[in-house]
Amino acid sequence: MSGAGWFSLAGRTALVAGASRGIGLAVARELARAGARTILAARSLGALEQEAQGLRAEGLEAEALRLDVADAASLEEAAAAAPETDVLVNVAGINLRKRFLDYTPEEYEAVLRTNLHGPLELTRRVGRRMIERGRGGKIIFVGSMMTILGLPYMVPYAVAKSALGGLTRALAAEWAQHNIQVNAILPGFILTDLTRPVWRRPEMRAWLESVLPAGRLGAPEDVAPLAVFLAGPGSDYITGQLIAVDGGYSTAAVWPLEPA
Ligand code: NAP
Repeated sequence: MSGAGWFSLAGRTALVAGASRGIGLAVARELARAGARTILAARSLGALEQEAQGLRAEGLEAEALRLDVADAASLEEAAAAAPETDVLVNVAGINLRKRFLDYTPEEYEAVLRTNLHGPLELTRRVGRRMIERGRGGKIIFVGSMMTILGLPYMVPYAVAKSALGGLTRALAAEWAQHNIQVNAILPGFILTDLTRPVWRRPEMRAWLESVLPAGRLGAPEDVAPLAVFLAGPGSDYITGQLIAVDGGYSTAAVWPLEPA
């Protein structure tokens, strides 16, 4: 294999959980454009169907599937409806920004269920079929800066997202024998419906420009190419990795001192 072949998903089926908007939608579009038969899954079936139709109009293979990752029956149905999945991308996620002391147990439970337990259960169901088929596969989790760093006012989200890091590493070790690679993408600050209220605030924009080496907010399209790579044959020897797409936030700093 050489050249673009390393990135080709022809003949593969990809299931994207959380594909109705934002990062998941950008990922689904690019997986389809790389040649995968792409199943776009989330709760908003109308939006998914419209998007799948648009991709089919581009000559690509795309389908919509209803999935609520917080609902056990829905997880079961979705996994059964996509038995040939070679690539599973777990993108679905929610966040609540609150002081630690103000969270209700129900809010904590909802964030954990959607961001951790649902993706874990979907991976068990889809992964079991991957193993039975014996063709290998790719599992991609979408973590966050909170997988590796602490920021205030989102403890339940941090609990869930840092646990995804452990899940990625341990499952990579366990499923390497089945030729299934398990990796996580850690987006930094990406403008989507989830984060728009934060980035509308001028003090947050000013903070971002002062700390972020890239100097700009990310877009969902900045994240999607890594998902294509991790879904394809070029990443067959990469597993258990947490890879940030963060404009340098987690590893580099803005420094005002210029050399003399
Ligand atoms: P978004 O625009 O709000 O999209 C969230 C997606 O998750 C939607 O497609 C939504 O679809 C789906 N979803 C939510 N709850 C679901 C459920 N119970 N069952 C199935 N699907 C569900 O958010 P985003 O910014 O693209 O975030 C996507 C992922 O990236 C999340 O895991 C988030 O934590 C992570 N992330 C985002 C950023 C950022 O800066 N934006 C940074 C780090 C990590 P429906 O509502 O149609 O179900």
